Amino acid sequence: MKKMKQWLLLLCLALGLTGCDSVGEILNEVIQSGVLDEYLWPEKVQKIEVPDGEMEVHFIDVGQADCALLASGGHFMLIDGGNNDDAEHIVTYLRNVGVKKLDMVVGTHPHEDHIGSLDAAIEAFDIGAVYMPDVSADTETYRDVLDAVEGKGLQVQHPVPGDVLDFNGLPVEIFGPVKEYSNLNNHSIVLRVSVGETAFLFTGDVEIEGEYDILEQGFDISADVLKVSHHGSSGSSVEEFLAYTDADYAVISVGEENIYDHPEAVTLKRLQNYGMEIFRTDEQGTIVCDTDGKNISFRQERESNP
Ligand SMILES: [Zn+2]
Repeated sequence: MKKMKQWLLLLCLALGLTGCDSVGEILNEVIQSGVLDEYLWPEKVQKIEVPDGEMEVHFIDVGQADCALLASGGHFMLIDGGNNDDAEHIVTYLRNVGVKKLDMVVGTHPHEDHIGSLDAAIEAFDIGAVYMPDVSADTETYRDVLDAVEGKGLQVQHPVPGDVLDFNGLPVEIFGPVKEYSNLNNHSIVLRVSVGETAFLFTGDVEIEGEYDILEQGFDISADVLKVSHHGSSGSSVEEFLAYTDADYAVISVGEENIYDHPEAVTLKRLQNYGMEIFRTDEQGTIVCDTDGKNISFRQERESNP
């Protein structure tokens, strides 16, 4: 592999020297695209290998935004896609863990910090299906996502509460949005992925009103791992909702020193009151969670500062 890298570099140099710009540019583009990464830089590629019936979740650190990659048996699902300027980071990360196709892409709601780079991810990989709530936003970011979906010859699907989707044999239950809201956060797709005896609840940015509506539907929202809503805002994660999730672990996707002061102290206190162990992307970077259907374990990019 090392030889191949040397040959390519030599070729680039030769093309550069002979002024063969277009070929050099094409080669450069190929290298930039990442398709040769596993040959050129095998040390960079850490392929996810998870058997069927098990799952690995990567809560990718995208600052003040959300992005989670779920992997099971060679299949992948992306829930949210960071901000617009996270495109390169997300696409590179996905390539490096071996993603070729995203079987399912979920944009929980059309705010930039959730769908910002979904267009880039949709363009970069083969796509199975794209799910978003049945609500639009008058933004370029939202239109970019629709264009990317259209470019793949697909249509955005709008799951509704009570639907059960299938991710490599794992049930994906849809709990929200229960109805229409003026607040886009409450329009978040809320879903639970079950793996054997374990379950993961993803809440987007749903706020208290939406949380109560979900509870009123009588869904079983219990989970072991809770992706805490709205980056730890106190306008979400109402006590009753947390009580019903009965989660052991809470993951907060949040940016360091963000202007919203997320996660709020009162939210952290609520999570702690329910005995949840808290993980935060602002402190621990990317957080990886594994389940074999019975046991759950966590790994993190870095230890949080004391
Ligand atoms: Zn958000």
